[in-house]
Amino acid sequence: MGNILKDAFSALNYTGIKTFSNLEKVQTVLVYHHLSPQLFRQHMEIIRLLRGRDIVLTFDDGHRDFLDDMFPALALGTQQAIIFISAQLIGSSAEYMSWQQVAELSDAGIRIGSHGITHTNLLELAPQEAFKQIRDSKKMIEDKIGRPVLSFAYPYGGKNAFNPAIKNMVKESGYQNAYSNIMGFNSAASDPFELRRIRIYADDNVFRFKLKVNGGYNWVDKINAYKYGFLGCKN
Ligand SMILES: [Zn+2]
Repeated sequence: MGNILKDAFSALNYTGIKTFSNLEKVQTVLVYHHLSPQLFRQHMEIIRLLRGRDIVLTFDDGHRDFLDDMFPALALGTQQAIIFISAQLIGSSAEYMSWQQVAELSDAGIRIGSHGITHTNLLELAPQEAFKQIRDSKKMIEDKIGRPVLSFAYPYGGKNAFNPAIKNMVKESGYQNAYSNIMGFNSAASDPFELRRIRIYADDNVFRFKLKVNGGYNWVDKINAYKYGFLGCKN
């Protein structure tokens, strides 16, 4: 039995999946869009048991349901949380939070990051337009919350959503780091402007969530790249 487990672990290592022994050395960043309050509470209970792990929760797009479905279960202090918002979408419809709500979350200790101005794929824009999305969104959000905005998340976030020139624009605009949507963990060796995240979906039950948080899905984008020719997700 012991040998079978040992073989399984070396197979995991062989395929590049981080095993449980070195999870303390990595930063795990989760990315949420929508999730039921019940399931989110279960996820938070699992995270609370993972003492010693560096886990950051991120929430993309500034949807209003974050306030009702997820915010109440967040135990700030235990978890670091960042909300990535597209400046022009905030307050634009009932689907999104208002600026006042964003400012209140910022006051409550949630970090606010930029997700561009209009949630457009930056590689589909002329370079000066992409630069504007990156630089001006930072200023727009800072004016509203009265705090520096230090993190950026590439809209769509896959390998087809940023390149070295875009990463430079993020750096030049004064951000400290930038997140992709490519599945994986981060370490001291990671490029701070191409940080990886673990995508969490609305139907990720407790079993799948535990697998994801332990690196069990870090290979899926390698398969996607092989099968479909892209790395990361499409949204
Ligand atoms: Zn987004």
